[in-house]
Amino acid sequence: MTTTVPLTRTSPVDQIYPTLAPAQVARIAAHGRPRRVEEGEVLVQPGERPAHFFVVVAGRIDVIRPAEGAEGLVVSFGPGMFTGEATMLSGRRGLAQIRAGAAGEVIEVNRDDLLALIQTDGELSEILMRAFILRRVELIARGVGDVVVLGSSHCQGTLRVREFLTRNGHPYTSLDLDHDPGVQELLDHFQVRPADVPVVICRGDVVLRNPTNQRIAECLGFNDAIDQTKIRDVVIVGGGPAGLAAAVYGASEGLDVLVVESNAPGGQAGGSSRIENYLGFPMGISGQELAERAYTQAQKFGAQVVIAEHATRLACDRKPYAIEIGNRGAGGQRVPARTVIIATGAQYRRLPIDSLARFEGAGVYYAATFMESQLCAGDEVVVVGAGNSAGQAAVFLAQTARRVHMVIRSEGLAETMSRYLIRRIEDHPGIVRHLRTDIVSLEGNGHLERVGWRDNQTGRVETHAVRHVFAMTGAVPSTRWLGGCLALDAKGFIKTGPDLSPEDLAAARWPLARAPHLLETSLPGVFAIGDVRAGSLKRVASAVGEGSIAVAAVHRVLAE
Ligand SMILES: Cc1cc2nc3c(=O)[nH]c(=O)nc-3n(C[C@H](O)[C@H](O)[C@H](O)COP(=O)(O)OP(=O)(O)OC[C@H]3O[C@@H](n4cnc5c(N)ncnc54)[C@H](O)[C@@H]3O)c2cc1C
Repeated sequence: MTTTVPLTRTSPVDQIYPTLAPAQVARIAAHGRPRRVEEGEVLVQPGERPAHFFVVVAGRIDVIRPAEGAEGLVVSFGPGMFTGEATMLSGRRGLAQIRAGAAGEVIEVNRDDLLALIQTDGELSEILMRAFILRRVELIARGVGDVVVLGSSHCQGTLRVREFLTRNGHPYTSLDLDHDPGVQELLDHFQVRPADVPVVICRGDVVLRNPTNQRIAECLGFNDAIDQTKIRDVVIVGGGPAGLAAAVYGASEGLDVLVVESNAPGGQAGGSSRIENYLGFPMGISGQELAERAYTQAQKFGAQVVIAEHATRLACDRKPYAIEIGNRGAGGQRVPARTVIIATGAQYRRLPIDSLARFEGAGVYYAATFMESQLCAGDEVVVVGAGNSAGQAAVFLAQTARRVHMVIRSEGLAETMSRYLIRRIEDHPGIVRHLRTDIVSLEGNGHLERVGWRDNQTGRVETHAVRHVFAMTGAVPSTRWLGGCLALDAKGFIKTGPDLSPEDLAAARWPLARAPHLLETSLPGVFAIGDVRAGSLKRVASAVGEGSIAVAAVHRVLAE
């Protein structure tokens, strides 16, 4: 029996499943070939990489989701309608079967030809891109995926895996051990120990026990479509706002671009609940949404993004340069590059408390997104820090939490936080500020239950029954992997352009008659942008702007 799952209320059906006008079909037909199909003929199997795109000319194409013991009809396409969703851009494996529901004719287009068409035909690009993105959103909303995560909301590994899949836009089904005793029985049956949680069932049959993000990416074939051995015009390390912006500008200007990202596109910004000061978004935009848009935009122009691979070394002693990537510390593939853009950002400082590691993900968080806000709805929470990210988190969490305690080491917020945020915090009855105060203890059994803080002026320590702490206390640069290739400042941020002193250049043996370009490091053709760069502003807009400036300099270096 077949069923069609209803659409979510937010999805206008004619945008998700549009019918193309005859003139639009004709423009696509010029890039493909007509193909006759018989009823029941399978065009694409689930788990296959999308090699072709189909437009229905006559007959009907069905999209079928494989399900336990039965099949589910996701949608049917009639004449003028087309197949495909976000995997068409990324080249990742598809989730459903595509087959002819009735005999007829389709136009079959190679994926590469389709990508070329999207770059040149503005009208079709808009229709197809919007449909692909909305279809993926629908799949996520309906939980139509090939991954099941069995775990607990109180387990750091489970939160990591859910976040990894969410931030990579991959639909999954989540079963919670705390709410479903049947799941625990199932795990006991397979002798799954607590250390094996979460268990991830990948593509229906592969069972992974507490897998790394890289293992999940491998199983789902996230990077299968990407040639990592080819020499690139530019390899960008880091897929945060800076790296994605460089990818969009580079690829749209004809460069062969590869991005290497150790986790998920979006970087720190991807964990931001609402970015309100980014140009063009007067109502604000969530970091996740901004990241998804930028990632899709980069792919549209032909940039490729390797996910869940960590750059472990920059081979800087020869040209072309090479980036060594692989599982952290294990070494691996060498990706050759004519130029390199480093956009590895910075990582949040951790609270100097011995028991911290026990509670990370189990009460201590480094991002305040919708997911975390749901976990602490109705509870008291602590936000540590005095910068804009701490302010945003406090205001955002105050919408759902009973009370937000801001633990602030300094005398006040004026020097570190934007005025608009300070005003909102001052005006909010649910936010309490504790100035000149430090967190001194985290306690609990499994999950955080109590938090101690000390007033540094009086020395008084108070312990409160608080189950959620958001650490928003600044960042350290992700530059240790560079192993002495580049001049860094005292805090480890990368020096560029005019910030490089004659001594820095002499120590680095700068070989050229010209001075380094803006954003160029002490190594010719290697650039640093965004939060990882010494003196950067630590803002999404500046990171994005630096991405575009670096690409202009890459063109100059490639022409040298
Ligand atoms: C919660 C929060 C809220 C914020 N809100 C705002 C805001 O409202 N407005 C604003 O302007 N700014 C905001 N910021 C700051 C803003 O997010 C950063 O300035 C911006 O993300 C910097 O971008 P980036 O690309 O330089 O670095 P990042 O965003 O840090 O991205 C770096 C990327 O590099 C990857 N990476 C690191 N090392 C490696 C490696 N060795 N190999 C491969 N990949 C690697 C990381 O996984 C990461 O994805 C916020 C930050 C946070 C955390």
